[in-house]
Amino acid sequence: MNLKNYIALVEDYPKEGIKFRDITPLLANGKAFKKATDEIVEYAKEKKIDLVVGPEARGFIFGCPVSYALEVGFAPVRKPGKLPRETVEYEYDLEYGTNTLCMHNDSIKPGQRVLIVDDLLATGGTVEATIKIIEDLGGIVAGMAFLIELEDLNGRENLAGYDIMTLLKY
Ligand code: 5GP
Repeated sequence: MNLKNYIALVEDYPKEGIKFRDITPLLANGKAFKKATDEIVEYAKEKKIDLVVGPEARGFIFGCPVSYALEVGFAPVRKPGKLPRETVEYEYDLEYGTNTLCMHNDSIKPGQRVLIVDDLLATGGTVEATIKIIEDLGGIVAGMAFLIELEDLNGRENLAGYDIMTLLKY
């Protein structure tokens, strides 16, 4: 089963010139979704993970079945104003403007080994901010897994020193 057959290319979304990789056909196919999840779980098994962290919103979709399979907890990374209790925040630059991500202060215990899961690695900005928050809270980023890697955007280079697994490369 080639998982690339379940990724749709959408031209000019959300803006002109962007080639968006739509993962919803993969989610719609139980066998494809299970295969993607199983491969991430296989990667994570040897890493002694204590907690899975996933950025809003597609990181929730892929992160939760992984945390279930590993029998560890899941902690969400969200945009400002979405988490009800005290948070740690990190602001980072986008091409135009900035973005801020947040986690609850008590979502990670110092020394916990964390796996980051998201659907797609592009520039690495989202995951860099996620790493900053995890490390601020005393967590150890033991690995990160993505369904898709857009190699032209060099996210991997911006994350030198971290253990990264991606299933599909474009
Ligand atoms: P980065 O921060 O690495 O530049 O962008 C990755 C984040 O943007 C991920 O959280 C991902 O969900 C979202 N993203 C960027 N481009 C795409 C795309 O083509 N397809 C999907 N599914 N998500 C994207």
